[in-house]
Amino acid sequence: MKPALQPLVHDRRSACPGLFRMAQARDGGICRVKLTFGNVTSNQMTGIAEAAEQFGNGIVDITNRANVQIRGIRPDSEDMLVDGLLELGLGPLTDKGDDVRNVMISPLAGLDKGKFDIRPLATRVLTALQTSPSYQKLSPKFCIQIDGGESIAMVSHPHDLWLSPVNSGNPRAGFSFGIAGTPPVLAEDFPALGLVNVEHTFELVTTVLDIFIEWNARNPDASRLRHMLADIGNEAFTRLLEQRLGTTVQHPDLYYWRREMPLASGHFGIVDTSNAGHCMVGAMPPLGRLSPDMLRSLTAIADRHGCGTVQLTPWQSVLLPGVAIERAGETLKALHALGLVSDPREPIATMISCSGSAGCKSALAATQSDGIRLAALLAGKPDIPQIHLTGCSKSCASPLAKPLTLVATSEGHYDIFLYATNGPSRFGKLLASNRTIEESADLIGTNFGSGGPSHA
Ligand code: SF4
Repeated sequence: MKPALQPLVHDRRSACPGLFRMAQARDGGICRVKLTFGNVTSNQMTGIAEAAEQFGNGIVDITNRANVQIRGIRPDSEDMLVDGLLELGLGPLTDKGDDVRNVMISPLAGLDKGKFDIRPLATRVLTALQTSPSYQKLSPKFCIQIDGGESIAMVSHPHDLWLSPVNSGNPRAGFSFGIAGTPPVLAEDFPALGLVNVEHTFELVTTVLDIFIEWNARNPDASRLRHMLADIGNEAFTRLLEQRLGTTVQHPDLYYWRREMPLASGHFGIVDTSNAGHCMVGAMPPLGRLSPDMLRSLTAIADRHGCGTVQLTPWQSVLLPGVAIERAGETLKALHALGLVSDPREPIATMISCSGSAGCKSALAATQSDGIRLAALLAGKPDIPQIHLTGCSKSCASPLAKPLTLVATSEGHYDIFLYATNGPSRFGKLLASNRTIEESADLIGTNFGSGGPSHA
């Protein structure tokens, strides 16, 4: 039975949209559809296009967790929208399981040559989250990453719990894990907390969750594992974990273990896979946003050239799996014709933005249209670092600072920040204040357009 739509109440869940809970924005309700590992069939994609057109304002965003958001939902359409999405098979396994469908894996999971297939483990974890009454109470932001060491992976998003094989070609070497962070890639990154055998990976996840839920019962205002770690500390948590698992998880050598650096732009263009004779083809819709017509055309391309599914990515882009290698070039051309970009050197290929003033009352500028204008002014200039436009300092589009951040100050004006590990602001160092889009393009193009930054 479909759960009743939940009114917006002042609890910790109210700000997060879900399938059954439309968050209210300036342009109407937002419905977030949490997809299983970012995978959607062409039939489902067509249904989403129709729903966005019929019940919303036609805007569908890919999120940085490889889900989709349908925007502009009218209050009298909410029930019909939910019914339609459930009929498409886009609902959770249980009535109360929607919020906790937060397991991230690589878009290449199971298809990367020589890499362990982590999809069965990820599916087991995702099922447990949705079907266990105690796990269903976790925060909608509570998230788990199950990494297989794939060459294409988003490993910079912090997760409540992450697991990663210490040798991606040999799962018997065990899985490292960490809490409230990311798998270490660089020497200066925070090391893994522990190591478990591949047979114990599922038990590790459930034990960590159980420990957190018990702690959370005594600390009901907290919602994330980082809160528990800040309270009890790494040592006490690790000891407790070892007691419950009946095994040692701390290994001195783990201090030096680093995950292999994923490819910088691996999700663009033609991607080799272990599926003989077939590849994936990837491209980015401008600012991760798709119209109903684009969605329908995308599904037609997936049906004609691929295997009838579309893989969404945490870079807010798409990958079409199952494309015969000899048809890859043609498929890429079809995506370009649709307005998607596959050249990572183009600023629009990596630019991200929140909804801006068109969709959010807090926004000081129209970040989406400003972003498109900025990208057009910078088009063809190589070496532009990734740009993030945000309508206010809340930075909804990115939990982490990007190389360049434009923070709106008023309509059409932005402060420009260059990322720096030592701040002074959360976005880095202030390069320029209160610049128009044209002034921003001049400054960025001059400083970065043909080489490294002169302000760095
Ligand atoms: S970053 Fe600010 S302006 Fe943009 S969507 Fe979030 S709250 Fe709104």
